[in-house]
Amino acid sequence: MAKLSFVRRPRGVTQYVCLVLLAALAFLALFGHTIWAAQAARFDPARPLQPASSAHILGTDQIGRDVLARVLNASLLSVELALMAAAIGVVIGVTIGVGQAVLGPFLRRLLASAITISLAFPGLLLALLVNAIFGAGPTGAVLGVGIALIPAFARFSQALASSAAGSEYVAAARVLGVGRVRIMVRHILPNIAKPLLLTALGSVGTSLVGISALSFLGLGVQPPNYDWGELLQAGLQVVYIRPMSAIGPGLMIVLAGLAFNLAGEAFAGSHPRISVGEFTGSAGLTRRFALATSRLANRRPDRAADADELVVAASASPKLLSVRDLHVAFPGRSGPVAAVRDVDLAIVPGERLGVVGESGSGKTTLALALACLLERPATWRWGEFTFDGESVKADAHSEYRRLFGTKLGFVFQDPANSLNPAIRVGAQLAELRQVHYGASRAESRRMAVDRLREVQIPSPEIRARQYPHEFSGGMRQRAMIASGLMGSPRLLIADEPTTALDVTVQAHILRLLERVSDETGAAVLLISHDISVVVSFCHRVLVMYAGRVVEDIPSDWLVSRAAHPYTRALIHAVPDIDDLAGQPLTTIPGQPPNLENLSTGCSFAARCAFADDKCREDDPVLTALAGPHSVACWHPRPSEELADELTDAGSSNRSAL
Ligand code: SF4
Repeated sequence: MAKLSFVRRPRGVTQYVCLVLLAALAFLALFGHTIWAAQAARFDPARPLQPASSAHILGTDQIGRDVLARVLNASLLSVELALMAAAIGVVIGVTIGVGQAVLGPFLRRLLASAITISLAFPGLLLALLVNAIFGAGPTGAVLGVGIALIPAFARFSQALASSAAGSEYVAAARVLGVGRVRIMVRHILPNIAKPLLLTALGSVGTSLVGISALSFLGLGVQPPNYDWGELLQAGLQVVYIRPMSAIGPGLMIVLAGLAFNLAGEAFAGSHPRISVGEFTGSAGLTRRFALATSRLANRRPDRAADADELVVAASASPKLLSVRDLHVAFPGRSGPVAAVRDVDLAIVPGERLGVVGESGSGKTTLALALACLLERPATWRWGEFTFDGESVKADAHSEYRRLFGTKLGFVFQDPANSLNPAIRVGAQLAELRQVHYGASRAESRRMAVDRLREVQIPSPEIRARQYPHEFSGGMRQRAMIASGLMGSPRLLIADEPTTALDVTVQAHILRLLERVSDETGAAVLLISHDISVVVSFCHRVLVMYAGRVVEDIPSDWLVSRAAHPYTRALIHAVPDIDDLAGQPLTTIPGQPPNLENLSTGCSFAARCAFADDKCREDDPVLTALAGPHSVACWHPRPSEELADELTDAGSSNRSAL
């Protein structure tokens, strides 16, 4: 019974049927000519159109040749022509479809339009047209069917590639400065190979039917050569008296087409590497609240000194990264939507700078702009942007990705999507050394193992040979950090690196980032919506609201001296694990503003208890309040008043932080 278990599984039956058909077809294509060529050529004018018999199973044709021998002998030519036509359609179609995904916006639109127009032309007519241009014969038939397949393959691979091109692992490859061709071949193609291969195998069956149809119409293979289509045409002339002459080649066309289509299905079911759903993650939201309180309660006593030193040093040190008057917008229904506005930002070497704010406040867009990862249709401009002494120009910022590949590491929010699922982790890490430093494959792999060991991945030699889906969520995130360390990063941008992780792994990742920063002197820009994570990790905090920085404050001053009502609301919204039982969570009243339709005045006015007419009329700019503390508010609250408020409230939220 166990041996028949495949019968209960439809896919198992399909695979067996497909295997049998393909094996038979391969045998006929490889050996059919050798075995039956002589018999197929032998004619006997005295025995034309013989009926089926033991001597001639499918009878004989008009000049007494054995029909079965001719059908079997035609296998090689029929399959050969079908494979050639399919290869033309697949190779050219996939190159166009995948290539357009990595081209610039103008060429991408041009190619997309060309594909759409060519799809509107019926495939059969296109095949006939090309066939007519190249003339009747096998060459015209192969080119006609092959070219007719190109538009469908181009559109199919375009859709698949566009999806893969928007993934974070392709963005990560861009940060590394990987070129377009390498991104196409190494990062996009392997991830769409499965559906492409499935469709390509099916297209061999389609090509076979198409070429047989052209031969049947007298436009394909010409006598004295013959394929199944030509034999079918000859058989149909005598179908009423000797039907087997037509049924034989017709049956072979059907079975061969079926074999290739089933092969695609069977392969899709048996390929183990990639499957949707392997890369899911989970968030331990509730437990993160507990981490928030415990982490801040255990903060090191020397943190204040660290922060003060760095903040003082920041004003005197040469800037590692400095950007002034940064704007980023996306197209909206009624004009550009400003996702980032008027942002001035500077980071000195070794500094850990946090960026906090609600979802949609512009944190990730800011990070992408700083990493030169923005893509059209986004638009961006800045007054000045320097990184490690080099000026970055807004109109050519993608050219700076190569510079950023070695000096800037980017840890994405979701490592499940940031690591290429089709490439082994070690190979992905090694890519940067190979691309930027010209290191050998072996040397790069050795370094990748070392980096995995440094981020405390157990058994790094084994893990380097595994695929991302074989890693846990925490290990994937550590692998991303290891990837960021493969160069010599002066700046590590971490966009919500702990959001999808449980509390233990989250603490470990933050400790790891801290150690990396301390040991290498790399600055860290940490993006998070979790104010407690940022306060515990960073020296300085930028608070973003509606695309703008509304407060810039040393992290150790945040609880006692935050002056912007929005910052204070964020602090009060951090839950206290001790007071959670039976208490509703504190939230910030109202909704973030619609960026498509920002009103004049302060964008927080609709949610602010201190808003007055001036707030509603004039937008406050970021202004120095005291020392390194700046705030964009017409009525910043004095620190003493805030301290009194917190004391009156039993300091519950303060303890939460
Ligand atoms: S400017 Fe006015 S409305 Fe805006 S945060 Fe300050 S007090 Fe509130």
